[in-house]
Amino acid sequence: MHIPSIEVHKAATLQEAGVLLGRYSPDVRLLAGGTDVLVDLKTARFTVGHLVALGAIKKLRGITEEREGLRIGALTTLTELDRSPLIAGGYAALRDATSQMATPQVRNAATVGGNIAGAVPCADLPPILIVMNATALLWSTKGRRTVQLENLIVGPRQTILRDDELLAAVNVPSPPARFGAAYARFGLREANAIAVAGVAAALVLNDDQTVRSARIALCAVAPVPKLAKAAARLLVGGVLDERACARAAAAAMEEAEPISDLRGSADYRCELVGTLARRALAAARQRIGG
Ligand SMILES: Cc1cc2nc3c(=O)[nH]c(=O)nc-3n(C[C@H](O)[C@H](O)[C@H](O)COP(=O)(O)OP(=O)(O)OC[C@H]3O[C@@H](n4cnc5c(N)ncnc54)[C@H](O)[C@@H]3O)c2cc1C
Repeated sequence: MHIPSIEVHKAATLQEAGVLLGRYSPDVRLLAGGTDVLVDLKTARFTVGHLVALGAIKKLRGITEEREGLRIGALTTLTELDRSPLIAGGYAALRDATSQMATPQVRNAATVGGNIAGAVPCADLPPILIVMNATALLWSTKGRRTVQLENLIVGPRQTILRDDELLAAVNVPSPPARFGAAYARFGLREANAIAVAGVAAALVLNDDQTVRSARIALCAVAPVPKLAKAAARLLVGGVLDERACARAAAAAMEEAEPISDLRGSADYRCELVGTLARRALAAARQRIGG
């Protein structure tokens, strides 16, 4: 299949991107790495007359460590995120996702912003960023706003982004003391297979090893990256032993809303959620140490 005739506009600044979005909306899409949007255009998932290419906007690039945490620009590629020396310590769990996603070639082009704003239910970064309490910085010519990442995606390929708005950056707060997070996912092959299911977990422990707070998010088993709130609640106040993990994993299975498709049945995905939840919790616990 061929991509239909489309006008591509290269924006050099955020302001230019905003003006172009306003001018051509709703017959326009943003183009970052293009690894999703070009496939969608080829397969006619949607058609538009205009693309606004973000690649030249320097303000959207780079990872910086700030007082409150990490700022990851929307145009940061998966390779850049994976290789950044800043992805260490409390942020190490981000690499659980980037190291398993796609192929090196795709990771060199694919961006963090595209992975999130594309709102594809099997995208690997949103669940781990959500359990790490990340926020999304949204920008338009009218101003900027910050939203919790779990509130950005509202359905398959649907976000709260307005027509004139783009995702500028993701902020990941500095991890508190005794914090650990991990992401466990299952794909049908070791490389270049999107997730059949994934589970992200983040824990903060008290000095006496009991759980102060827990967050668990599910990937590819609901229309959106879903917080398994009941599962996480079960952990709070107790010790994170095998029994507690098994109870939480069972609750997470209840909270999953999987569909059956060519990658796996709904029942299979549910089983995966149980297994992956136990793995993610154990890995998050191990990262805390002590
Ligand atoms: C072979 C292959 C394997 C893949 N494997 C995986 C995988 O294992 N895990 C996974 O999660 N994904 C996978 N993907 C999907 C894809 O590579 C990622 O989701 C990627 O991060 C998308 O980023 P992009 O820059 O290419 O986005 P694009 O394709 O440029 O854009 C995707 C969508 O997001 C919008 N968008 C992009 N940037 C912004 C922004 N800053 N603000 C607002 N909207 C924006 C675009 O308009 C479009 O709707 C795979 C894709 C391919 C082709």
